[in-house]
Amino acid sequence: MIGSSVVVRTRSWAVLLLGLLTAASPAAFAADCPGHPDALGTSRTLVVDPREHPRIGTMQYRETLPLKDHEVVLTFDDGPLPKYSNQVLQILANECIKATFFIIGEQAKANPEGVRKLVAAGHTVGTHSMNHPLTFDRMPLDKAEAQINGGIEWTSAAMTDPSKLAPFFRIPGLMRADGVENLLISRGIQVWSADFPADDWRHVSPDRVYQLAIQRLEAKGKGILLLHDIQARTVAALPKIIRDLKARGYRIVHVVPATADRPATPTAAVEWLLHPPTETTPIARWPAAPNFVFAQTATLPAPGLADLNAQTAHQPLVLPRRTMALADVAATLPAPGRDLFAIPEGSVEVLLSTTLSRRAATRLAMAAEAPHAGKGKAGRIQVRRTAHAAHAMPKHAAQAKIAAPRPTRVATSVKKRA
Ligand SMILES: [Zn+2]
Repeated sequence: MIGSSVVVRTRSWAVLLLGLLTAASPAAFAADCPGHPDALGTSRTLVVDPREHPRIGTMQYRETLPLKDHEVVLTFDDGPLPKYSNQVLQILANECIKATFFIIGEQAKANPEGVRKLVAAGHTVGTHSMNHPLTFDRMPLDKAEAQINGGIEWTSAAMTDPSKLAPFFRIPGLMRADGVENLLISRGIQVWSADFPADDWRHVSPDRVYQLAIQRLEAKGKGILLLHDIQARTVAALPKIIRDLKARGYRIVHVVPATADRPATPTAAVEWLLHPPTETTPIARWPAAPNFVFAQTATLPAPGLADLNAQTAHQPLVLPRRTMALADVAATLPAPGRDLFAIPEGSVEVLLSTTLSRRAATRLAMAAEAPHAGKGKAGRIQVRRTAHAAHAMPKHAAQAKIAAPRPTRVATSVKKRA
């Protein structure tokens, strides 16, 4: 008894501690951002190994970063351009947000101080080619390689510590090609697409950039946002985007590359899919076709009346409203008079089930009235002509007349028609 109560007490403490940590998380982020108590902050750092997941971003690839619901990674391309990049840096600093920047070699060459500022602020720095040609999808591989190398050389040259350069590359204009990707991957460089852009390179208003960023993020629930730190509209939209991210409960994730002394964050392969299959995804639980029970049966059972009965438990789910209405109408139809089923004495009787098709009914009736009917298989069936049977074989009315000289009510109508 004593032992079990200790266990319970320990557990309750653990639960309480966990609850406090969870509840305290947002406050902890703000506390980590001196002078900015309402900052969004950076919720965690994700360490990735480019060799394990070489292509990321669902705009183009199957895999993306292993983010949890409501986690966002901010990325900025085409800088550094002091006029705007410095403002972006300040906005991110005010919110204690760590982002990833994809640098153009020419920009780093012209503004090496801008690269150093990014590194000093703790952001991740990858590259984005030498001078941003929008022809990566069709340029010769040696030229693509020269573009990749130029970006890497000038960006790392701008750094005090070139080992700070992340092996992350974003193809200009996302103009991907297999050859380029394979080249990057063979060198251990991760190819970054994105999960959604905000169209901030187009001639749209800052408000439109903000709307697109939030709308597209909300549509996917998490992911990599593609922005540019060389646009006035991005600078204008960014504070509003960040405020709204906070209001909607989103969290910022900082991504860094794995190194010898910094192993990759443990993840399951399925987490690298934007929407991993779950228990609630029906297709994940469907058996393969050969396992279907009815795949081994010649026929399926026909639905019975009980299947259509409004009283059954399943009815509200399987029957649409319209069918119920029809069922109500059917219930009010008058019952047929007894004389409709009167059969003249001595006539050939055709017993027809309602499940027989018209063609089958005709065949049965013909067999019954043929000279050798008694010897055939059909001859053993007690055949009764009914209104239905006669209706089903108008073309054989004359034959029917010979076999059944005393006309029934329906036979008369057939005679008229003939
Ligand atoms: Zn670009």
